[in-house]
Amino acid sequence: MKVTSADIVISAVKPEQYPNEPIPEFALAGRSNVGKSSFINKMINRKNLARTSSKPGKTQTLNFYIINDMLHFVDVPGYGYAKVSKTERAAWGKMIETYFTNREQLKAALLIVDLRHPPTKDDIMMYDFFKHYDLPVIVVATKADKIPKGKWQKHLKVTRETLDMAKEDETIVFSGETGQGKDEAWGLLKKYM
Ligand code: GDP
Repeated sequence: MKVTSADIVISAVKPEQYPNEPIPEFALAGRSNVGKSSFINKMINRKNLARTSSKPGKTQTLNFYIINDMLHFVDVPGYGYAKVSKTERAAWGKMIETYFTNREQLKAALLIVDLRHPPTKDDIMMYDFFKHYDLPVIVVATKADKIPKGKWQKHLKVTRETLDMAKEDETIVFSGETGQGKDEAWGLLKKYM
């Protein structure tokens, strides 16, 4: 898809703040530092709209982006950061549970993982959480530029097996550096729009 406009709509903490537009929405989740902001920025051709490496401890919000006035990306705060307090962790859980249980516009979740390493326990929990809500999940295995192309398929297989992915869920090899996988990602999203 050719992205002609992309803007942040709102950083929301509660449902009253979610945008009302009945347009397709995609949620993006991943552990802190995995490359989620870089994925969003690459997908929408912007260097810096989604903040990269946002430090934990800041207010945890769901950031809604509108793209071409026709779809939303929802940036879910990163997880798996060891130094987060129990209270913060609980608040994160409550916020995402509220969002994922009640959002009609939501078409699919994009789970961003690191292609170089097997998914973590937190990644597995996140995947299972999405499947609990019967959501289609697209697993984006990023940082592909950091390993040789000849190893991509082998690593992808480990990703699929570790997450115990459902057959119908798709994977994409991605790089926020090179843009590898970007067209494929838009192609998959289009199926849900
Ligand atoms: P986030 O915390 O998940 O939003 O992660 P960021 O997008 O901020 O990325 C964390 C770090 O990884 C930054 O230093 C990025 O420049 C780097 N990074 C993200 N994606 C890629 C990628 O595909 N390839 C490489 N080489 N580095 C990446």
